[in-house]
Amino acid sequence: MGSLKIENVKKAFGPVEVLKGIDLEVTDGEFVVFVGPSGCGKSTLLRVIAGLEDSTSGRVLIDGEDVSVTPPAKRGIAMVFQTYALYPHLTVKNNMGLGLKQAGTPAAEIDRRIGIASSMLSLEPYLERRPAELSGGQRQRVAIGRAVVREPKLFLFDEPLSNLDAALRVNTRLEIAQLHRRLKATMIYVTHDQVEAMTLADKIVVLNAGRIEQIGGPMELYNAPANEFVAGFIGSPK
Ligand code: ADP
Ligand code: MG
Repeated sequence: MGSLKIENVKKAFGPVEVLKGIDLEVTDGEFVVFVGPSGCGKSTLLRVIAGLEDSTSGRVLIDGEDVSVTPPAKRGIAMVFQTYALYPHLTVKNNMGLGLKQAGTPAAEIDRRIGIASSMLSLEPYLERRPAELSGGQRQRVAIGRAVVREPKLFLFDEPLSNLDAALRVNTRLEIAQLHRRLKATMIYVTHDQVEAMTLADKIVVLNAGRIEQIGGPMELYNAPANEFVAGFIGSPK
């Protein structure tokens, strides 16, 4: 299970309200993409969903449980960042396994999960390398693998392809889509790229200045954007 309910979430940093009342429901197994311009609050919303940041008001429920009162290890969430956030001194294998080791998972089980994840992400030849010996695309696959081995019910991706060149962006995007089909986990994916949003999403959430402008399937938004803003981001040119 990995359903998500966001109820009137607001977030302010000092006097500045960055999230101005977000309501959203995500069903188990859905692939939801947040799009919107830089600074509109996408990363903040993702961090609030992950429980990394407290909301000022409102609630985030994952399978009915309020994230802010669930201990991090029990939330069933894994997050993938634009900058990979790998440990430079650890091998690929140990980067992927560290979280599990710290959680007390038996070594044989860690190895089993790393085997599956590295096969899914074509990382088997690189398991003994360190991040500095990998390309950007390989590093991002390691970061995704590190999320996969935790077997989360909810994956959160924050612009995971932004640091990759165009060809790698396409490849990695296809891998993420394939991962979603195989794992059937719920995925929330932040991007400012229209193509990524259109190709990956079951449902697109268009954000602007801390509010949701429109929620809908890719073709729905493309064919029937609710306003000029959505049309500018997703809709067919008018
Ligand atoms: P996005 O991911 O859509 O580019 P962010 O969620 O990162 O946007 O940021 C939304 C707004 O909140 C920006 O104006 C940013 O400067 C501000 N902001 C984000 N995090 C903090 C913070 N920790 N303290 C103060 N302001 C922040
Ligand atoms: Mg961001």
